[in-house]
Amino acid sequence: MTNPAANTERESLLLLHAPVGRDALLLHKLFDGAGLESRICRNVDELCLQVERGAGAVLVTEEALNGSAIKALSAVLRKQSTWSDLPLVVLTIGGEPTEASRRHLMQLEPLGDLTLLERPLRSDTIVSAARTALRARAKQYEVRRRDAELQLVTDNVPVLIAYIDRDQVFRRVNQTFHDWFGLRPDQVVGGTVQSIMGEPHSSNVQPFLTQALAGQQVSFESQVLDKKRELRDVNVSYAPDFSPEGDVRGLVVLVQDITERKKTERALSASEQQFRTLADTIPNLAWMANADGHVFWQNRRWFEYTGTTPDQVQGWGWQSVHDPEELPRVLERWRDSIVTGTPFEMVFPLRAADGTFRLFLTRVAPVRDSTGTVVRWFGTSTDIDEQKHIEEALRQANIELEEFAYVASHDLQEPLRMVNIYSQMLLKRIEQPLDPKLQEYAGYIRGGVQRMERLIHDLLTYSRVTHAEDGEVSAANLESVLEQALIALDTRMKENHAEVSMAQLPVVAGDEGQLTHVFQNLLSNAIKYRKREETPRIHVDAHRNDGHWVVRVRDNGIGFDQSQAERIFGLFKRLHRSQDYPGTGVGLAICKHIVERYRGRIWAESELGVGSTFFVSLPAAPN
Ligand code: ADP
Repeated sequence: MTNPAANTERESLLLLHAPVGRDALLLHKLFDGAGLESRICRNVDELCLQVERGAGAVLVTEEALNGSAIKALSAVLRKQSTWSDLPLVVLTIGGEPTEASRRHLMQLEPLGDLTLLERPLRSDTIVSAARTALRARAKQYEVRRRDAELQLVTDNVPVLIAYIDRDQVFRRVNQTFHDWFGLRPDQVVGGTVQSIMGEPHSSNVQPFLTQALAGQQVSFESQVLDKKRELRDVNVSYAPDFSPEGDVRGLVVLVQDITERKKTERALSASEQQFRTLADTIPNLAWMANADGHVFWQNRRWFEYTGTTPDQVQGWGWQSVHDPEELPRVLERWRDSIVTGTPFEMVFPLRAADGTFRLFLTRVAPVRDSTGTVVRWFGTSTDIDEQKHIEEALRQANIELEEFAYVASHDLQEPLRMVNIYSQMLLKRIEQPLDPKLQEYAGYIRGGVQRMERLIHDLLTYSRVTHAEDGEVSAANLESVLEQALIALDTRMKENHAEVSMAQLPVVAGDEGQLTHVFQNLLSNAIKYRKREETPRIHVDAHRNDGHWVVRVRDNGIGFDQSQAERIFGLFKRLHRSQDYPGTGVGLAICKHIVERYRGRIWAESELGVGSTFFVSLPAAPN
């Protein structure tokens, strides 16, 4: 297709050809005077050349049209595009034309818009005939321009567009159409739906074609082979074209490639199917809701557990399986999540099919689209009834055990004091000089009593720490904590010539009294587990780690095997023999308890024969 805007300056050009030069000149002057542009062609060859370049109309005298001239002109006109119907005005030789000369001229009739004007002619008749011819030509150009514009638009649409007549013959197609089949326009136009589009499409379309030819607009899905012989999914629409009389004279056909969409749809439905199968086999209750909280799906387990039907619980109907006492709390939280788009997590009872309630942990997560908008909610409810009961029983057992430990250690103190006092009195009464054997036995008794006392003392401390109520967490200045601990250990330090150095220490969240206990324990261990031949050196410092302070207590003592680093925080866990290093194995267990109460952590790193470092991480004090 040529450029629709081409030829414009030649659209109104008159081509003149008269063998008698004077006639041609006369006509040229006449048109010039009438404001019409004309061009004289000296011979038929030139006329043909100019016609090929484009013209508004041709004006020739009959004398110019001998046999060979008509032949040459016919050849040129035949090559003109189908839209073209070039006006040909022939000025005949005066008088009634013979039959032969008429037949001769009429050869041009099918190739152009032929007008015969009989001479002699008045000049205004000639001008008016020329104007009429040019007007007709202008209309042809206009139609052709519009047609070209239309083609340009349709060629650039990624949809196959065609016009077929009542016999299902293609009259016109766009570029996309012949690209699809890999055919030239002239190979498509004139072909039938069956011959061009092939199977399985041709058989598919017959009922729809019948409907459309009866005057209905139809749309359906089909499959068409493309030029690579690949079957593609398409959406086809037929729009009937009505004649002014109201008959369907043809159809506008639109064919859209929907292969990718179909592929996605198929993949989506497969994954949806997989998801549902999965959701139906898990032991949890699962469900989905729209962005506004309207529940539209529950899994099989949900219905099995609650004994309800989808109709009863769709939308907001699920409330019927909740405990009426708890429901307002649940609704309030759920509505809050919907408004703010934040995940929901809550524990509440749900009624089973038999009417009993069990505790469930329900978690609901928002599902967002690529813009971040919540499009739906996905929720699961996990039965934690059993777990809750076990937890409660365990908690109760723990409380009882701790109470027992407290009472037992407390009640042991009294008989022990008796043993202590009376054994001492007994020893005094025995005659002097004391039998060395008796002296040895007396030493054992005193040692045993002292160890027992220490053990009971530590156990009571442990009981008190674990029983203490969780009070409000205050700010603890670790500088004063360490100061208190050092005062308490003053004698021990002097006895052991211990050297303690300290960096600046922070303020943390905790209780100063309890933390003094922790650091006193760590420092006392650092002195106790010293190397005999070396001065005990202890260094305390701290560094910040996000919202926490990590305090380090480093010694140069005997150390221990790193593999034991976790074990030593257990109750009664010791790595050294009592004869060498007296102790009960309770101190670090107490430290761990206290530190964890303030949401902190305690751990150790050590190397045998090199020394140990104890780390205490505690939350920084709120400003
Ligand atoms: P105790 O010191 O009364 O035995 P702890 O609970 O305070 O009990 O310590 C548990 C064990 O951890 C100790 O018996 C000892 O083996 C080891 N331990 C603790 N602190 C140190 C240290 N600074 N250096 C070497 N070993 C240590």
